[in-house]
Amino acid sequence: MLFLLSGPSGVGKGTVRKALFRKNPHELLYSISATTRSPRRNEVNGRDYFFVSKAEFEKMINDGKMLEYAQYVDQYYGTPNTWIEQQRQQGNDVFMEIEVNGAMQVRSKVPDAILIFLLPPDLMQLRNRLELRGTESDEVINQRLKTARQEILMMTNYDYAVVNDKVDKAVKKVQTIIEAERLKAKRL
Ligand code: 5GP
Repeated sequence: MLFLLSGPSGVGKGTVRKALFRKNPHELLYSISATTRSPRRNEVNGRDYFFVSKAEFEKMINDGKMLEYAQYVDQYYGTPNTWIEQQRQQGNDVFMEIEVNGAMQVRSKVPDAILIFLLPPDLMQLRNRLELRGTESDEVINQRLKTARQEILMMTNYDYAVVNDKVDKAVKKVQTIIEAERLKAKRL
């Protein structure tokens, strides 16, 4: 099964995903994305992302090696497809955490993927979180907020919506979705 968590940047997707994987009672495998943006402090190549050059990324696109990709705030982000295909063939469940344009590409390429939209309680809170993180300039924050408003309108294309008011609660809801979808697929 392919589970996908998406939603606006700054909504807490990464936090929810990390909390979900900290215990990982579901034995999910996390799909590591490739990106052209620079690593942040504490980020490790091959753990958080595969950090690649623009030329390398574009070669992967041209070679058909991306399940999906998007340009976001002038950088490329994308999911290499070989690893995901291998895992799914072996019967392993994969978990992706990506932005919404990529999520829509997954929706059309992998119709049975389970799409979860993580929603901020409100947009001001989103701004505060981005500012508190202190890693982005005002210009980038404004760009991200504009993108976020558009993204929220796209919620209807998802199977589930989860409000991230409290991380623990959001994680529990995502866990419940995973359990329910497995039962629905009669994976007892
Ligand atoms: P950040 O720079 O904050 O790590 O990520 C920016 C945005 O890119 C986030 O919304 C994140 O979920 C998204 N993202 C991360 N990896 C991928 C990916 O492989 N594909 C797509 N489409 N978006 C991604």
